[in-house]
Amino acid sequence: MQATLRKLAGRVWWYPHDDDHDNIQGGVAVIADESGSTLVDAGNSPAAALRISAAIQAAGLPAPRRLVYTHHHWDHVWGACAWPDVEVIGHQSGARLLEAEARRPWSHRYLREQAAANPRLVPSFRARAWAMADWDGFAVVPPHTEFADTLTLRGGIEVHHVGGRHAEDSTVVAVPDSGVLLTGDCFYPPPHHLRQPGDTHDDQLIRSLLDEDTFGRFDWYVDSHHQPRTDRDLRDLLTTPSG
Ligand SMILES: [Zn+2]
Repeated sequence: MQATLRKLAGRVWWYPHDDDHDNIQGGVAVIADESGSTLVDAGNSPAAALRISAAIQAAGLPAPRRLVYTHHHWDHVWGACAWPDVEVIGHQSGARLLEAEARRPWSHRYLREQAAANPRLVPSFRARAWAMADWDGFAVVPPHTEFADTLTLRGGIEVHHVGGRHAEDSTVVAVPDSGVLLTGDCFYPPPHHLRQPGDTHDDQLIRSLLDEDTFGRFDWYVDSHHQPRTDRDLRDLLTTPSG
């Protein structure tokens, strides 16, 4: 899917997710900076990274110099090997998981074998096969820079580990000067192959994102597989409304 970057607010631009759920392509944020832009997530494949890179050039934004992973799931990190000269930043627990992922013998044959051995992996592994036309030069890239709780990047970008049930390394990225909080998949239910009947959005995590004392106040809350949401949109997701 070739899409264009759209300016969300301030210096935050958004390359949208793919509406086709079978493709499992989340959105990617670009935080523009003359000294080098910051990406939030890498795209689900080198091919996706190249499409996003073309969109960044078409929008006239400075080339990315940093890439923050919201978490270690493949659809957020498999494009990383196609971004040249970026410092990859990720939570320490995700770094260990990605080091293990990097050692797996990824190929279409391996995907077929793994899916046959565990049918619950089929949606994810079929989407990986679709995303990857070929494997030349492909590598899973563990973070170059790890953090434990929080990290403040140049330009006042704040990186906070939040964890949760979707992924233990889930991380949110705040851009206070633009009123944007990038939330990855952090409040989603566990991934498909681990999901139990009745699993739904993580109300407790959503409440913490909306807590102004914890993260501040934002105009936009941007999760990876949806249109950007206002605080009201995010509040509407709560299954038990707060009093
Ligand atoms: Zn995820």
